Parts: sequence; structure tokens; C-alpha cells
Amino acid sequence: EKTRTSFSTKINDLVAKYRTVDEDFFEELEEILISADVGVNTVMEMIDELEMEVKRRNIKDTSQVKEVISEKLVEIYYGNDEAEEVEGLNENPDGPTVYLFVGVNGVGKTTTIGKLAHRLKSEGKKVTLAAGDTFRAGAIEQLDAWGERAGVNVIKHSAGSDPAAVIYDGIQSAKSRNADVLICDTAGRLQNKVNLMNELSKVKRVIEREIPNAPHEVLLVLDATTGQNAMSQAKTFSEATDVSGIVLTKLDGTAKGGIVLAIRKELSIPVKLVGLGEKVTDLEPFDAQAFVYGLFA
Ligand code: GDP
Repeated sequence: EKTRTSFSTKINDLVAKYRTVDEDFFEELEEILISADVGVNTVMEMIDELEMEVKRRNIKDTSQVKEVISEKLVEIYYGNDEAEEVEGLNENPDGPTVYLFVGVNGVGKTTTIGKLAHRLKSEGKKVTLAAGDTFRAGAIEQLDAWGERAGVNVIKHSAGSDPAAVIYDGIQSAKSRNADVLICDTAGRLQNKVNLMNELSKVKRVIEREIPNAPHEVLLVLDATTGQNAMSQAKTFSEATDVSGIVLTKLDGTAKGGIVLAIRKELSIPVKLVGLGEKVTDLEPFDAQAFVYGLFA
């Protein structure tokens, strides 16, 4: 809603100001998209395509360009992928599904795990959480509290212990309880990339060894309000591990929802979930078409 209010007001003002399509119109449109965090490279490419399309269809009236803009935004999100549908979380048909969460402190990782646990539990699934962030003060207690709120099992060790050992215990517990889903938290220290890589690869090795084809998702949590900072975190984490999906939190707190498109386009990682508030129910699967068309609603 925040992104829509800001974006649609600007687009409507632009359409009213220009009426007929010309160079200046596209230049201002470019600025609007960049200010919504769509990402400079993505915007440049989009404007070029938009200009061609407008010429091809012989559109003169700026109000007709709106439709082409939304078409292009959806196209940009999906790229060459045919799948124009919500990209949900992978599941393991033969045992516990394992989701590994990564991301720096403060982005909303613990909250998201709590929300996801609640969602899966209310779908009737048996969920176990593993408190693998043994580094950040209070992280274990916070996850424990979320687990209690969602009514799911939490496997934890003491602060400072080996994250891989916690995850190992989480896996054993999930297997013995016949859990459907194991969600693993990890520490998010970006200061030392080598440590981060070592820790994540050790945790992943344990998961891979214990459950074939796991983890079924490595979900990187990013804070939508941090703009280009989120992009650089995404780059660092994708170098450290194979990120399969993004959870973009705090989308409720920004008018710059264009970051969704930039992430998908520039990093080729799908946005799988979005955080829309602090409540346990404020987590939704990301639907790119609904998002883009909603901007113009
Ligand atoms: P972590 O350090 O990554 O585990 O971050 P936390 O889960 O502790 O979250 C940090 C802060 O962000 C908390 O105050 C959360 O309530 C808040 N937060 C998390 N997700 C969202 C969201 O989608 N929207 C809003 N508005 N706040 C969020």
C-alpha cells in the first residue's frame, strides 16, 4: 500500500503533466522508478524496452503507457522464466523439509521464522525450530519465545555453542518426531566473510549429510527499507552460500517496493515471501503479478 500510494501518485501526476509521450516523459518516468528502488540497471533496460514498445504500438497518449509499464514490470520480474505464478517454498515429499535461514542481524530473521512456523502449523504441519544463531545475544531466547507463541518445538543449546551441533540435534529431533518441517536459524555476521562462509558451509554440510537433497530452501532475509544495502547483502550471501529464495521484510515500512524487482532481476533470486508487519500473521507469499498490478490499482 505504501509503495502503491507513492508510485501511483507520481505516475498519475506524470501522465497528467505530459499527456503525449516524449523524451522528457521517459526521463521523468526513469527518475520515478529509480526513486522506488527498482535499480538503475533494471530501470535503464526497462525504459529502452518501453520506448520500443510504445513506438511499436504507436501509442501517443501517456495514459495508455501505464498499461505497458505494468506489463514490462512483470516481464522484468520473471525474465525468461515461463512460470508466471507465485513461486512457493520447495517441499520434501520423503521426510522433513528443511529451510535454512540466513541474513544479517536486525533484518527480521527471527520474526520471519516465527511467522513461518505459525503459518505452517496452522496448515496442520508439524514444525521444529533449531536455534542456530548461538552468536547474537538473546537470539536463542527470542526464537524460543516465537516457538512457544506458535506452539512448535524448539531445539536449542547454550549461547556460544557450535551452530552445526544445534542444527544436527534439530535434524535428529525432527526425524524422531516425524516433523514435516525443520526451520534452522543461523547467525548473520557479515563483518568477517570467511567466518560466515565457513559457518554456513559447515551447517549446510551437516544438513546435506543427514537428509538427502536438503536444505530444500536457503532463504536470505533482507530488510526492504535498506535499499541498496539489501542488494549488497544479497551479493555477499550468494557468494557465501547458494541462496534459493529471498524473504523481503518490512515492506510495510517503505514506499520503495521496487527493490523486489531489482533483486530478482539483478541477482536472479526469486522473492518467495514478504514481511508486511510485526504481527505473527504478517507474512505472505510473494505474487509478482498481483504486486505490480496492485501498484496501478
Ligand atoms: P533478526 O535480528 O534478523 O532476527 O531480527 P528480528 O526478527 O529480531 O527483527 C528486528 C525488528 O524488525 C523487530 O522489531 C521486528 O518486530 C521487526 N520486523 C521484522 N519483520 C518485520 C516486518 O515485516 N515489518 C515490520 N514493520 N517490522 C518487522
